[in-house]
Amino acid sequence: RAKQAGRNSVRTYEPSMGSETAQRLALERDLRAALATGELLVHYQPVFGAVSGQPHGCEALVRWARPEQGLIPPGQFIPVAEESGLIVPLGTWVLREACRQAAEWQTGDRAVEMSVNVSARQFEQPDFLTIVRDALAESGLDPRLLILELTESVVLRNPDAAITLLKDLRDLGVRLALDDFGTGYSSLSLLRSLPIDTLKIDRSFVQGDRAEVMVGAIVSLAHAFGLHVVAEGVETAAQLDLVQSLNCDGVQGYLLARPSPASEARLILSGSPDPAR
Ligand code: C2E
Ligand code: MG
Ligand code: MG
Ligand code: MG
Repeated sequence: RAKQAGRNSVRTYEPSMGSETAQRLALERDLRAALATGELLVHYQPVFGAVSGQPHGCEALVRWARPEQGLIPPGQFIPVAEESGLIVPLGTWVLREACRQAAEWQTGDRAVEMSVNVSARQFEQPDFLTIVRDALAESGLDPRLLILELTESVVLRNPDAAITLLKDLRDLGVRLALDDFGTGYSSLSLLRSLPIDTLKIDRSFVQGDRAEVMVGAIVSLAHAFGLHVVAEGVETAAQLDLVQSLNCDGVQGYLLARPSPASEARLILSGSPDPAR
């Protein structure tokens, strides 16, 4: 087996490295163009109250509508965007678009909380605070309706600087969530010092082995710190029962609603069709 792997890697090493680099560069070039020509769009996945079952917000998730190729999920281009630095203009665009959308919904019959993902590279921009402040000002969105989702790795790169920025963001009125919680390396002492509002439990814990133990422990921890906790990736009725019985505050997952264009998400958020439950 090792021998075979070795032979394969020898045979394919040079050409595949070459074409991978070329592919990545082509992707980067196309993504840069896509940003300029408006091929990026935002889908919205509703987040529900675990007890009420009512939608109270949504998460903005970027998509790339590539001509001839359909909708490309972020997992296929966010890494290239991060490496190339394109994530900065891309992320700013998503933030502004999501704020604009939430502000539009804010004038409707009820307010919708809007969660937006922020990558490390964006967070480390010296003018990130200004970018957020501007997105709020130009959209007119109530800052309390904006939730920025960060991952543990973002904070861990430079905890002191991160904590200062998180406090400044909160001073704007914005709320903060730690995304994919439990998959990174954050310590309990870091959690104690982070000025955040919400933990999002990664779907690997909701769907994986010993979900009851993992989710239960994270919920206890979150609540002990006075944080809200949202379970991601709820796909089955059994998983929904579990996260409800373990006192999660919010639920998000395909069982309740998939990410969809604003027009569809709006129907769910306004309570029109009852989500499948
Ligand atoms: P995330 O922030 O953890 O977002 C949740 C992901 O889980 C989304 O994938 C969502 O479609 C998916 N999901 C939701 N419910 C379920 C479920 O029940 N089952 C399964 N299997 N998946 C579910 P998506 O849209 O492909 O996004 C993947 C990741 O890409 C996001 O993970 C986030 O880290 C990143 N991302 C998406 N949009 C943006 C963006 O605008 N900016 C940045 N920096 N990152 C983004
Ligand atoms: Mg997220
Ligand atoms: Mg997540
Ligand atoms: Mg994730």
